[in-house]
Amino acid sequence: MRAIAADLAELDRMVTGCRACPRLVAWREEVATVKRAAFADQEYWGRPVPGFGPADAALAIVGLAPAAHGANRTGRMFTGDRSGDVLYAALHAVGLANQPTSVSASDGLRLHGTRITAPVRCAPPANKPTPLERDTCRHWLSQELALLRPTLRAIVVLGAFGWQALLPVLTPTWQVPTPRPRFTHAALVTLPAPEGPPLHLFGSYHVSQQNTFTGRLTPAMLEAVLLEAKEAAGL
Ligand code: SF4
Repeated sequence: MRAIAADLAELDRMVTGCRACPRLVAWREEVATVKRAAFADQEYWGRPVPGFGPADAALAIVGLAPAAHGANRTGRMFTGDRSGDVLYAALHAVGLANQPTSVSASDGLRLHGTRITAPVRCAPPANKPTPLERDTCRHWLSQELALLRPTLRAIVVLGAFGWQALLPVLTPTWQVPTPRPRFTHAALVTLPAPEGPPLHLFGSYHVSQQNTFTGRLTPAMLEAVLLEAKEAAGL
């Protein structure tokens, strides 16, 4: 039987000790040992990465999984890589972060009413978790959203993988229509709740270099989605 965390601080502690996926445990630890030459003098985190942001967040941002030399190195979501550079610059531009950069877990970055998390907490080879790994990790996100439920009003999902992984986690707290809503950039779906306020679900292309270097996702496009989500969350 799975342990249930009493609060987000406990959940964050529990998730960092998880070893449920043998392939991902082996990969995250190998990357942390071999390292990239540019970071050879640094100690890598090399463990699952917990969510980042306040426990009373009204807005959540859901990505894919930690990057091997980004969050798997620094121990904080989207910290220390190019994807994070784009995301945190946009969060700062719309007033959701106190600074535009995110380089290490001790850099003083704070988020306003926003928590960043992912459906898979360990860096996967080639950024591709298997369906089994995605499903094995689901209960961490499920617990995190349950703990955020009293204040959570909106979620921005970065990319189709996160969208597909998130939808099963949202029920039964919120009602997801059938057929399930499809991921698109700037998608907005409002999910009613049997009890309490609804959830506003937004889609954005992922902040991966594949999208940002090609112009598929521009800073203006990302900021537009974040601004709408901020307003929907009442921030
Ligand atoms: Fe545990 Fe999730 Fe990492 Fe798998 S991906 S080992 S379930 S934290």
